[in-house]
Amino acid sequence: MRITHWIGGKPWDGISSRSGDVFDPASGVVAAQVDFASVSEVDAAVAAAADAFSLWRNASLAQRSTVMFKFRELLNLRKEDLAEIVTAEHGKVLSDAAGEIQRALESVEYACGIPALLKGGFSENASNRVDVYSIEQPLGVVGVISPFNFPAMVPLWFVPTAIACGNVVVLKPSEKDPSASLFIAQLFAEAGLPDGVLNVVHGDKVAVDRLLEHPTVKSISFVGSTPIARYVYETGTAHGKRVQALGGAKNHMVVLPDADLDLAADAAVSAGFGSAGERCMAISVVVAVDPVGDTLVSKIASRMRTVDVRREMGPLVTDAHRARVRSYVDAGEASGASIVVDGRDFPGDGFWFGPTLFDHVQPDMSIYTDEIFGPVLSVVRAPSYDAAVSLVNANRYGNGTAIFTNDGGAARRFQNEIEVGMVGVNVPIPVPVAYYSFGGWKESLFGDSHAYGPHGVHFFTRSKVVTSRWLDPSHGGINLGFPQNT
Ligand code: NAD
Repeated sequence: MRITHWIGGKPWDGISSRSGDVFDPASGVVAAQVDFASVSEVDAAVAAAADAFSLWRNASLAQRSTVMFKFRELLNLRKEDLAEIVTAEHGKVLSDAAGEIQRALESVEYACGIPALLKGGFSENASNRVDVYSIEQPLGVVGVISPFNFPAMVPLWFVPTAIACGNVVVLKPSEKDPSASLFIAQLFAEAGLPDGVLNVVHGDKVAVDRLLEHPTVKSISFVGSTPIARYVYETGTAHGKRVQALGGAKNHMVVLPDADLDLAADAAVSAGFGSAGERCMAISVVVAVDPVGDTLVSKIASRMRTVDVRREMGPLVTDAHRARVRSYVDAGEASGASIVVDGRDFPGDGFWFGPTLFDHVQPDMSIYTDEIFGPVLSVVRAPSYDAAVSLVNANRYGNGTAIFTNDGGAARRFQNEIEVGMVGVNVPIPVPVAYYSFGGWKESLFGDSHAYGPHGVHFFTRSKVVTSRWLDPSHGGINLGFPQNT
């Protein structure tokens, strides 16, 4: 099967000079070939978007929200089909794919309310017979570049808000699981979105670099690993674009001595191994505050042995990624951490890797310092609450974190002191609801704006302030002084 671009409201009909394999991760077989865009295909998508802009930016708020409501209805009707596409190319189990789409629907629903979200301010009589008001206008052609791990949800963090705000989009999804984006583009077309408002180009660095450099592209919303996020932020801003670039993570779950250890162990296993650990909000470090370490590790380990890897967890996305995860586990063992559960030799033809648990991990080991993005959980022992907080705050990432405790005062202090963008209190994966915004701190996000919610609307609009005075016979004459409000 061949997967190609979606430009100007239809599949691209050219011949691609480069392409890549798309795998079925559960079996390891190549399921399709995806076209990789060259500069000219990206340019064609940007041109199609730019052509659609004057029509779409002038579509009324009512027309835009009608398309969004229709898209929401279609997505809800077809969500099982989309979940199957996600599972086939990403590998995550069907229930997990369905969960991803359910969370994506929240962002679509938020965008349905665009007329209320784009209300500006109005000040009558700011000066004598002078009114001042603000209007929020779209940017134009915006680029969205997404990672493999949420092939439906991450594009839908950005695309609905961008479109609802009146922008036109070129989406470059991950080349590892490209079909979900095409499904979304087709549903938008069925929902009545005019041709060219949403375009999808597939590919790699060539396509990304062209979007970053293209003079017509006004902004870039990127989600992926930290080195690429940094590169995208630096290159995009150097080309004068507005950029939000969300990067990698190392999310710590701090367990205080007064916590319910069964609840904490359940949460560590669910958040550590769901989607094979390929979530930017996965828990990858458990910080066990003395004296809970031994009990907690044994509770986590016994639960891990009950996980049905094929039915509940899923394989890794590619064989190359599995080899990378394995190399981290080898390095952790060599550096002296104790392996409590070893998932390295999980059987099967696909890209399988069993849940793995390390105890007595030290902060200088690569299994602690690096994002592994696999089913590998590290336990670090901390002597006190303060030591646990210092550890989290010293980490270069700041995407998500969680504290498990029954002490409200400690939890409140934690949410105040912790240098992380999304905090859970007895909640291991605190992905914000759609009417807040999603984003980390430190090397987990480059730029000012978080994704979706109010930050999303702010990112995808430019503010204009109008100061107006209608003819008034009492005002006459010239005045070279700076205008003052009286
Ligand atoms: P990735 O950085 O490899 O790829 C992300 C996107 O960048 C893809 O579209 C890819 O084609 C493109 N890309 C890859 N290499 C490039 C290069 N050299 N130059 C230009 N573009 C390039 O990330 P991934 O492996 O697809 O996704 C996993 C990563 O994404 C993890 O690090 C994870 O933490 C992160 N992530 C972060 C969030 C968040 O909200 N912070 C959410 C999901 C995933």
